[in-house]
Amino acid sequence: MNKKVKIILVSLCIIIILLTILAIQKNKPEEENTNLKIVSSFYPIHIITMNLVEGAQNVKEVSLTQNNVGCLHNYTLSTLDMKKIENANIFIQNGLGLENFMDKILQANKDVKIIDSSANITNTLQNNENVNPHIWTSIENYTKQVETISQKLCEYNPENSLIYKSNCEKYVQALNELKAKYDEQLAKLNSKKAICLDEALVYLANSIKMDVTYIETNHEESTLSADTMKNIIEKMNKENIKLIFIGEENNLSNAQTLANETGAQIIKLNSLLSGENNKDEYINAMTENLEILKEIGEK
Ligand SMILES: [Zn+2]
Repeated sequence: MNKKVKIILVSLCIIIILLTILAIQKNKPEEENTNLKIVSSFYPIHIITMNLVEGAQNVKEVSLTQNNVGCLHNYTLSTLDMKKIENANIFIQNGLGLENFMDKILQANKDVKIIDSSANITNTLQNNENVNPHIWTSIENYTKQVETISQKLCEYNPENSLIYKSNCEKYVQALNELKAKYDEQLAKLNSKKAICLDEALVYLANSIKMDVTYIETNHEESTLSADTMKNIIEKMNKENIKLIFIGEENNLSNAQTLANETGAQIIKLNSLLSGENNKDEYINAMTENLEILKEIGEK
């Protein structure tokens, strides 16, 4: 074998070895990186976490569920959801029983750290002995959820605590400004009576001190019985209730019947159960809600 052939063979060997190393590196599963994996349970929690982790190093955040699944009542975890949980370090839940699959999460990953965003919420509402878990539609509650999640992220991932704290401060400031607008521009709605046909909106109505009667409808998926409808119509006529709140995506049939019988106005609001994958979406949607609420009684 002459020298030239030897050089070519050696070079080829080196190239093959280098290519093999490269291929191995490329195929390395992502789990082997030192990234911190955060899984948020659903849309409102996902928006909070997106805001908090922006700029954090080696952190990956995903939502367990798709942004369009709506509320988690009776939600069944898919194989893909289980995969997300298996390699997660932190799972962030709304809490108050909304995630009724927590036992499955802990079975799939006993080391995952759980953050319960509802830990500092004290103004929970009850209906038929069940706690209403849709706390985020009150800006005040939502702000507490942001702060609780931020504190826990700092504790579990101190390397990024300065980022979490600064993101939290910025976000809370924006939320406080929005809350001040609600207080200032919606004072005329204080004590005003309304029927709320979406359990998620009752915290919003309460936060602006409206006097709401809320009817559990599973976000208007359940048809109300003739008896229930009759009782609501009687109450509305007796107490001169002229407003009906429903969620944007809700079915209109119950609300329409009530409106026809009482002359009440139907007010559609965004309950933040689904939406775009955009970290500003809570503020955008709540600003739109403010505009709609401001119009009440103006026409
Ligand atoms: Zn719900």
